[in-house]
Amino acid sequence: MKDISCTYCKETFETESSYYSHYLTVHNSKSPSVKKILILGGGFGSVSVLRKIEEKFRDNDVEITIVSDENFFLFTPMLPQVASGLLHPSSITMPIRYFCKKAKFLHAIVDSIDLQQQLVTIQRIFDNKVHALEYDYLVIGLGGKTNYFENENLENHSFPMKTIEDAIAIRNHIILMLEQAAQTGNFELQRSLLTFAVVGSGFSGVETIGEINEYVKRSVEKSYPSINPENINMILISSKNRVLTEINEKLSTTATRYLEKNGITIMKNTKAVDSDEDSVILDSGGKLSCATLIWTGGIMCNNVISELNCEHGRNGKLVVDSKLNLKDFTNVFALGDCALIKDTKLDSFYPSTAQHAIREGNLIAENLNKLINDDNNLNDFSFSSMGNMAIIGNKFGIATIAGHNLSGFSAWILWRMYYLAKIPTFGKKLKIAFDWMVDGLLLRDVTLIGSIKKKTIHSININENVPSIKEQLISQS
Ligand SMILES: Cc1cc2nc3c(=O)[nH]c(=O)nc-3n(C[C@H](O)[C@H](O)[C@H](O)COP(=O)(O)OP(=O)(O)OC[C@H]3O[C@@H](n4cnc5c(N)ncnc54)[C@H](O)[C@@H]3O)c2cc1C
Repeated sequence: MKDISCTYCKETFETESSYYSHYLTVHNSKSPSVKKILILGGGFGSVSVLRKIEEKFRDNDVEITIVSDENFFLFTPMLPQVASGLLHPSSITMPIRYFCKKAKFLHAIVDSIDLQQQLVTIQRIFDNKVHALEYDYLVIGLGGKTNYFENENLENHSFPMKTIEDAIAIRNHIILMLEQAAQTGNFELQRSLLTFAVVGSGFSGVETIGEINEYVKRSVEKSYPSINPENINMILISSKNRVLTEINEKLSTTATRYLEKNGITIMKNTKAVDSDEDSVILDSGGKLSCATLIWTGGIMCNNVISELNCEHGRNGKLVVDSKLNLKDFTNVFALGDCALIKDTKLDSFYPSTAQHAIREGNLIAENLNKLINDDNNLNDFSFSSMGNMAIIGNKFGIATIAGHNLSGFSAWILWRMYYLAKIPTFGKKLKIAFDWMVDGLLLRDVTLIGSIKKKTIHSININENVPSIKEQLISQS
């Protein structure tokens, strides 16, 4: 490999990353007084920090950079509604650039974090080139990834429910199964094709099975006359003795009754331990034939987090103090699903939810403001959630608000109003409200959008002798 020489001081380097690290640290510092804030991730936690510091530092001389491997923020609570064709994928995704007024957005994968050198290595999505970014203050909000408990079969044969691609893939697969089932006269085959199993009875598992139950049944009724609705099987596999252990037992019983009344079989105290292409294997030794297996069985930290040289807690999460600082690093904050935050009032840990990640982001923005203004008296994180809500079927929700239980239509409408208000942009709120409004009037869409060709550009060769585009245009005029 050719040595890379620095255009400023002519020093040479063997690798691009060592050159970039040199360039950034030696030549790219505007002034030591301009503080660099680097935010990693574009989810609930990071975007909430970004939006707050954009306000707070509007007139300050700080440099803000946000890095994410997706160029959009994803509103996960509505992901099951994308899987069921109720919402369009672009309605629940917002470009991160919408939130960047002062900040610079980099579409790249975070490869590693060096806490001692204050450097983060990133790989650009479009050409895989490696860069090093320096920081004065770092915010780590890299979320988590689906945990298959090291079982490759489960990973290969099930659909996760975490990203927008996951929701699109589930919707496409459901339609494929309906198309296949509609063309078979074999009763047993039709039953297998129409068996949908969801593993995990937390919020995302229950909301997912509620949504796809409605989608499949409505679509069969209106668009697939050759399918016998009695062949549809919806199964929720729960390792616990009840669904939704996050809420009280009474409301959990209400949810169970509603799901069962709507044709969903709940297998309690049952673990999915393995799978193959068309079935899932249970810890009882039983095998359940199902053409669709959706996995919402847990979240774990991604490699950048688990390999970080600092204290880790449960599931490899980053241990932070009450200020949300990493131990021994007062300039580094972590939040959201990748951070372990002690709730001293309840002597437990704060749950990994969007509502917590947003509040943690707000606190980090306040603390960054203090640090930039040389005030080391940082605030402590404390948050008491008002409650939980979920939509589990057609016009049916459940909610606990300030200790009060709510179920049915009122909880359903409350869920819609609350989450619509939380969508960060007006345009997307409008799109979602419109989709919800017309849902009762129109058929659910069962168009199967085929595989999409993807072209990757690794490098573009530029011929120095070709005139620039501007020159070409001038010569034509
Ligand atoms: C289906 C579903 C439904 C949910 N419903 C609710 C709900 O109703 N209410 C609620 O409170 N919570 C809900 N949650 C949980 C909620 O989504 C998470 O707790 C929340 O997203 C955590 O926020 P975060 O910022 O920590 O992580 P995330 O929102 O996951 O964001 C992580 C970000 O980091 C980026 N990233 C990850 N790795 C890298 C890398 N190496 N390089 C660059 N970028 C990277 C990702 O692209 C993403 O932008 C739901 C989750 C799911 C999956």
